[in-house]
Amino acid sequence: MTDQAAYDVIIVGGASAGLTAAIYTSRQELQTLVITKDIGGQALLTDEIQNYPGFMSISGFELMTKFQEQAAAYGAKFLYDEVRSISKDSDGFTVKTTAESYHAIAVILAFGKTPRDLGVSGEERLKGRGVSYCAVCDGPLFKGKKVAVAGAGDQAYEAVSYLSNVVSQIVLVHKPPKLTAGGGEVQHLIDSGKVVFYPASEIVSINGDKKVESIEIKSGGRSIEESVEGLFVEIGYIARSEFIKGLVETNSKGEIISSMDGKTSTEGIFACGDITQIPYKQAVISAGMGATAALSAYNYVMSRKGMTASRSDWKSIKIKDGDTQNLKL
Ligand SMILES: Cc1cc2nc3c(=O)[nH]c(=O)nc-3n(C[C@H](O)[C@H](O)[C@H](O)COP(=O)(O)OP(=O)(O)OC[C@H]3O[C@@H](n4cnc5c(N)ncnc54)[C@H](O)[C@@H]3O)c2cc1C
Repeated sequence: MTDQAAYDVIIVGGASAGLTAAIYTSRQELQTLVITKDIGGQALLTDEIQNYPGFMSISGFELMTKFQEQAAAYGAKFLYDEVRSISKDSDGFTVKTTAESYHAIAVILAFGKTPRDLGVSGEERLKGRGVSYCAVCDGPLFKGKKVAVAGAGDQAYEAVSYLSNVVSQIVLVHKPPKLTAGGGEVQHLIDSGKVVFYPASEIVSINGDKKVESIEIKSGGRSIEESVEGLFVEIGYIARSEFIKGLVETNSKGEIISSMDGKTSTEGIFACGDITQIPYKQAVISAGMGATAALSAYNYVMSRKGMTASRSDWKSIKIKDGDTQNLKL
């Protein structure tokens, strides 16, 4: 093993799945490091969650803060960085971030999904300089200003609804002829008088020197320039799993194939939450998967340390009457 900070388990991602996994592993007294770009992930993008058990209504930020506090209380350590690569060695895994390397016996992948880029000229350069992927997070920065929103689905609809109470005007650009979200409620966007609609249109470039100044829209064969100070790209989320390519099996969408007990195709690597192939992407589901992956990781780490039987040895364990020691997990 190289001279690196060593842990029992490293969790990549600090949101519903990763934070729940951290609560479980640290409570089981595994040395746990969570490496994450932020705390909360996608849940930060909504200011109201109404379907997380135990809370009639809670903001994503508040819920995720509670998760983190609980994990930290049990001893989980947090590092705010991006994981760039993971490699296997003789006694575990080396996890490289932008700055350092860390070592662990087991790794739990919980890095969820990331907003999809528009992929047009100017976008990369102006990210964080007027180009945003989260209306709820960044909307207040554009109070009283004119902005644009790209997208036609629920996410775009929610962004426009929220922004209509904050900004002065919204240029809404979408490729389909009609919004695919919002149903009859789209009328209220029209009635607000704040939304300029560009249906069957697309943004072809984002312009500005140091910050967004305008967007170029292709609409009905015409090219139109709209002056805006911000652009919210609200066109869905993708799995950015290129950095683990070849390490674990993924599907055509880049989602990690995981088993019912959170195992991946590589022994010692576990996965949970939105980054896996599960069909329903929800906070409570990610949290449940985080718990499962953590318990599997615990069994794995214990068996590597020669301290207890792993779940795969389950059948060979002779459980005496009244002895539930091995059943707790
Ligand atoms: C607008 C919106 C509203 C929603 N509303 C609800 C709702 O009401 N109820 C509900 O149950 N669900 C809701 N969801 C879905 C829910 O937010 C997700 O299912 C949940 O957040 C998934 O959690 P996760 O931990 O799997 O991944 P994510 O939330 O995607 O988090 C991934 C984490 O990994 C980190 N990360 C990513 N790549 C790296 C890397 N390379 N290195 C280090 N860290 C990395 C990110 O910073 C983040 O912390 C909503 C989602 C959105 C976008």
